[in-house]
Amino acid sequence: MSSVLRKPVRLGLTPSDIHTNTDLRLHNTLSLPAKAEFFATFHSVPELLSILRWTEQHELPLRILGGGSNVLMRPLVSGVVLRSGMRAIQPLNNDGSHCWVAVDAGVNWHDWVVASRTWGFGLENLALIPGTVGASPIQNIGAYGVEVADCIEHVEGIQRSTQQWHRWSANDCRFGYRDSLFKHELADDVIITRVVFRLSKHFQPTLSYGPLQSLQEQHDLTPEQLVDAICRIRRSKLPDPASIPNAGSFFKNPLVSNQVAQSLLQQYPTMPVYWQPNNQAKLAAGWLIEQVGWRGRGLSHAKMHDQQALVLTTDGNASLADVEALQVAVQGAVMSQFSVTLEPEPQYFG
Ligand SMILES: Cc1cc2nc3c(=O)[nH]c(=O)nc-3n(C[C@H](O)[C@H](O)[C@H](O)COP(=O)(O)OP(=O)(O)OC[C@H]3O[C@@H](n4cnc5c(N)ncnc54)[C@H](O)[C@@H]3O)c2cc1C
Repeated sequence: MSSVLRKPVRLGLTPSDIHTNTDLRLHNTLSLPAKAEFFATFHSVPELLSILRWTEQHELPLRILGGGSNVLMRPLVSGVVLRSGMRAIQPLNNDGSHCWVAVDAGVNWHDWVVASRTWGFGLENLALIPGTVGASPIQNIGAYGVEVADCIEHVEGIQRSTQQWHRWSANDCRFGYRDSLFKHELADDVIITRVVFRLSKHFQPTLSYGPLQSLQEQHDLTPEQLVDAICRIRRSKLPDPASIPNAGSFFKNPLVSNQVAQSLLQQYPTMPVYWQPNNQAKLAAGWLIEQVGWRGRGLSHAKMHDQQALVLTTDGNASLADVEALQVAVQGAVMSQFSVTLEPEPQYFG
């Protein structure tokens, strides 16, 4: 990344739908100060292609942004920051037990969860996750025992290195825990234009996660009631980025071997452990952070949230360096007490 923004004049006139020197503070939920050299929104695939051509003619880097709820924004983002303004929802097929629906990348995630019950079920537990449909496959968003991968048929987009439109089946996407192909081999190479979901026509709620277990008794539970319950739980636990800037869970729950988890359990018998297939165990990053005393503590303008130790918040005036200093301090404390590595969930942008 160049640290100096080019003067737009050097590139000649930009198309009218490409803005220059755009403030990105309102485009990231940690409210980090940042500027984009160029900022563009596309409303159709031909418009996207013409922006891509312009970007290539000028040999500019390009990054795609959704709602900015899972990024660590660098102060100067050189090249073009692109957003999808495409917001169509189109039912494709229905075989009596499932319905397939194509949803454009620019649709707000929660709006889609609420709308999805017109066609089928399966997304209820993912209500109120901030961001866009286009970003949902990137880290395979998940909450309360459900991952978006469970309902994805395929992902469509443009692969920049091959300049080709492409369709990735759920299998191709190699979804994992907060992970997919789009974070590895295809990182920054794909512009997702729409996602095709496969919704079940039968409502079979997932209620195994702690706070949802009380709903198991409710035999006439409706999808609307489940979405409402999820929204209530989330509002009571997680700070709203509109009033307290944050990016949700700042660290992933670490995966360790069964052997490591067993030996930690001997030392810390109350430690929560979620046993996984393949001889693995997931530890609760929030619990580890609490144990090392960082819940409710901060450095400079950044702090680990009082009610939810896993959420890093800012006071709206934090720089990226403030956030990184706190990240390193928390990682160091967890490493020295538990010998466990905490990996941040948000990705650098720019
Ligand atoms: C309060 C709060 C709670 C949260 N809770 C959860 C939770 O429960 N579960 C969970 O999994 N996450 C959670 N998150 C994280 C976040 O909401 C999700 O990761 C979400 O999918 C990010 O969407 P976005 O549109 O904001 O993506 P952005 O933050 O804008 O982008 C994230 C990444 O996706 C890429 N990207 C975005 N759009 C596209 C596209 N169209 N094509 C290709 N790449 C793209 C970006 O380049 C970037 O690398 C939470 C965040 C907050 C602030």
